[in-house]
Amino acid sequence: WVASELAEIGIDPDADADTLAPAPVVAVVGRPNVGKSTLVNRILGRRAAVVQDVPGVTRDRVTYDASWNGRRFTLMDTGGWEPDASGMAASVTLQAEHAMRNADVVLFIVDTSVGATVTDEQAVRVLRKAKTPVILVANKVDDARAESDAAALWSLGLGEPYPVSALHGRGSGDLLDVVLESLPEAPRETYRSYGGPRRVALVGRPNVGKSSLLNKLAKEERSVVHDVAGTTVDPVDSIVEVGGEMWRFVDTAGMRKRVKDASGAEYYASLRTASAIEAAEIGVVLLDASEVISEQDQRIITQVVESGRAVVLAMNKWDLMSEDRRYYLDRELERDLVRIPWVQRINISAKTGRAVDKLAPAMRTALASWDTRVPTGKLNAWLSEIASAHPHPVRSGKQPRILFATQASARPPRFIIFTTGFIDAQYLRFIERRMREDFGFIGSPIRISVRERK
Ligand code: GDP
Ligand code: GDP
Repeated sequence: WVASELAEIGIDPDADADTLAPAPVVAVVGRPNVGKSTLVNRILGRRAAVVQDVPGVTRDRVTYDASWNGRRFTLMDTGGWEPDASGMAASVTLQAEHAMRNADVVLFIVDTSVGATVTDEQAVRVLRKAKTPVILVANKVDDARAESDAAALWSLGLGEPYPVSALHGRGSGDLLDVVLESLPEAPRETYRSYGGPRRVALVGRPNVGKSSLLNKLAKEERSVVHDVAGTTVDPVDSIVEVGGEMWRFVDTAGMRKRVKDASGAEYYASLRTASAIEAAEIGVVLLDASEVISEQDQRIITQVVESGRAVVLAMNKWDLMSEDRRYYLDRELERDLVRIPWVQRINISAKTGRAVDKLAPAMRTALASWDTRVPTGKLNAWLSEIASAHPHPVRSGKQPRILFATQASARPPRFIIFTTGFIDAQYLRFIERRMREDFGFIGSPIRISVRERK
């Protein structure tokens, strides 16, 4: 049965984790309320409901495993980016840009009962430049009468509108057939590590020293700094040699030119952070060590961890540290970072250059963890030892057994555990903790999902 379970979710049971290919990515883009979540749930069907993410650990709110006719793909719901009404147009356009950079196919959803709005048209302008295939989904076509409204969406210039009712399922099978036809043989390699420098996002709230650090790195090292020319779609990146290796610092336009957000609106800062992280393999989160760790700092850390990127925490402005401040900082770190004890911390000064040479080794360690694939044999030998030494507690007279595990993908490492019943969140956290003790994963989030054998 394990083989058939795996086949059903599109994993070749004979393939070792080392040879498992990442699935192509299908992104769902559109305004609020057009029916993105409904469509995502429709595509995922009931099977997705048995996938249990570890609560509070490394939940992924935006990507899901999906399959249709035995073909596996990753569904990316960009709906999580939705802001308040004021930033709506910017947000849909950002979703679209993000999707074009990171997905293999984009599903652009329009509410047919409303028709194309100005916001839709703004997103379309971006999407029409895409090399990525874009499928126009005319949602809320609940009956045949509404199909003529769907046909009106030809005017958007994205080709044929596919009429669907995400709510009732009408047309969704046909849509998925079209999606499969548009999927590339092999997914696009967003995170190509060979063939190009690894991608780093320097993130942190305003004034923590991101631009100072970038300038310091660029000056200190005998470096070549290029600005890779940008369009609206490709923000400007800087390629800098750090620790004897080239790194691509993504989305650095604003930093190097020292253009500051005049408004300083936290909402836009957070969107920019999101888009830099999405384009990166690793996030270096800067904090100002001389100031109290704020809620915004914590949100940014959470954002990087939940995005599934490798992480390094850089405590900047260490030259300003006093003994007093040091005392309180230790307390704050204890309180705020208990949930991510696996993140490496470096204490630097972008101003004096203190410990800036620790950055490259920390990034290498984190990325090596992020890339890790544990062979299936080794994983299962380890897991059966853990499970027999520490069996799952009995709940309501039942004791779920752990049957088998596999690493579904790397970057970050994702594991699926097959069981005979519901697994306690506490037990999953125990497994994650033991996994980290035995396999390391320093600097990388890991994800563990559970699938119950039916
Ligand atoms: P999102 O904000 O784009 O994720 O939109 P939701 O999936 O939350 O849907 C917004 C509203 O539209 C909800 O009330 C859904 O029930 C409704 N909706 C979604 N798809 C359909 C559909 O195909 N037909 C109809 N009539 N309503 C739909
Ligand atoms: P950004 O908004 O995150 O890009 O921050 P900046 O790099 O513009 O830095 C904000 C302010 O902090 C500037 O006045 C910098 O000179 C100062 N700064 C940055 N790094 C350090 C540091 O390590 N030590 C000290 N003392 N000041 C710093």
